[in-house]
Amino acid sequence: MMRTLFLHPPSFDGFDGGAGSRYQARREIRSFWYPTWLAQPAALVPESRLVDAPPAGLTLEEVAPLAKDYELAILHTSTPSFASDVRVAEALKDMNPRLRLGFVGAHVATEPVAALKASPAIEFVARSEFDFTIREVAEGRPLATVDGLSYRVGDRVVHNRERAVLEDMDRLPFVVDVYRRDLRVEDYFIGYLRHPYVSLYTGRGCRSRCTFCLWPQTVGGHRYRTRSADHVAEEIAVARGYFPQVKEYFFDDDTFTDDLPRAEAIARRLGPMGVTWSCNAKANVPYETLKVLRDHGLRLLLVGYESGNQSILNNVRKGIRLDVARRFTRDCRQLGITIHGTFILGLPGETRETIEETIRFAREIDPHTLQVSIAAPYPDTEMHRQAVENGWLPEDGAALVDGRGVQASALSYPHLTHAEIFDSVEAFYRRFYFRPAKIATLLMEMARSPEMLRRRLREGVEFFRYLRSRGA
Ligand code: SF4
Repeated sequence: MMRTLFLHPPSFDGFDGGAGSRYQARREIRSFWYPTWLAQPAALVPESRLVDAPPAGLTLEEVAPLAKDYELAILHTSTPSFASDVRVAEALKDMNPRLRLGFVGAHVATEPVAALKASPAIEFVARSEFDFTIREVAEGRPLATVDGLSYRVGDRVVHNRERAVLEDMDRLPFVVDVYRRDLRVEDYFIGYLRHPYVSLYTGRGCRSRCTFCLWPQTVGGHRYRTRSADHVAEEIAVARGYFPQVKEYFFDDDTFTDDLPRAEAIARRLGPMGVTWSCNAKANVPYETLKVLRDHGLRLLLVGYESGNQSILNNVRKGIRLDVARRFTRDCRQLGITIHGTFILGLPGETRETIEETIRFAREIDPHTLQVSIAAPYPDTEMHRQAVENGWLPEDGAALVDGRGVQASALSYPHLTHAEIFDSVEAFYRRFYFRPAKIATLLMEMARSPEMLRRRLREGVEFFRYLRSRGA
């Protein structure tokens, strides 16, 4: 095996760009998902090392000398961070010209030629699921024999055949071994999860076909391929031995509730272990399943409501009816399951009126906390194709983040400008959080727990800084 460095490169300050992060940007409050997609091949390559620079606060100057200790470097990139990641790759090659270097991630999976042309420092890119692709490269196999690779031969880019989709997900070794070896769990924060937390995947792919959603359209696919309940329970048991300080486990599958019997089976394994856990869910899980999950340790659901307007949900093929989402939210409240709701402003069909409708909807269903994103047309998604066809992108190209790595409004419509979409995010946050009832709930939560008090105060300061930085 080659000595291999897996690197999530330093980028914008506080940039959360790993695949665990559904929209890759610097957040309103300091947040970091685990670099699980990079940890997975790292678990397949013995003696490798995973460096996750943003949460560790590592700069380019600190990371570049690592190149001297390795024969192979694999960098995870994203559309917003690509230009900066190329500079990191070039700095590594300057430090060690013999270093072999490849990029992974949805951005290079969809645009391998452009990625390889961006810099001679990038020798190859791995398309789609890259776990075993990277292991074979690390074994020293000739690039021409490795499925799923694109690489340069002279001035030409060669695309090897696609790698077969991984069906037996239990072949993937545990990522928590890599977390323990290379990461500090205390470096990872998500505002609505207890700290410290650990997140991992129990399956890949999502059955839904939301037009804006990057991962199923590029890397994961639309079949939910899953690990067995035994395999998941075993990894959680191992993790609990490694990290007794962890307060919560998060299943980062696109939609953990896509397979309800399996979700219940995993819950029934975790319940007797006394594990507190949370997951991504669609707003259509029936009461009976919610109850089983809650009875076996489920604390929180991360739910993509996206919009409070049915036509917009239909436009983006969300596959959710608002009345079902309302019922689901009531059921969760009744069962004591906390919800972090996520919304997107600026989706196709958005108007000033639908923004108003969405804010009213969020206040009505009242998830415990929420997050508001701006519609981000990632390359190779259906929404990007629509945006190109309809002229919704600026002529000079769509920037998904601004110069500080904060989300920007790339789309605009004849009746709704970038600025209106951008400003509506702040209005949404203000009108949701600055209500007496919501403030009282959050104050009560802080009064019950000194740790929560410290944390919410820190997040509050960060949040107000964020609002101020937007010119509030
Ligand atoms: S349900 Fe969620 S994960 Fe699945 S395609 Fe839609 S947005 Fe993506």
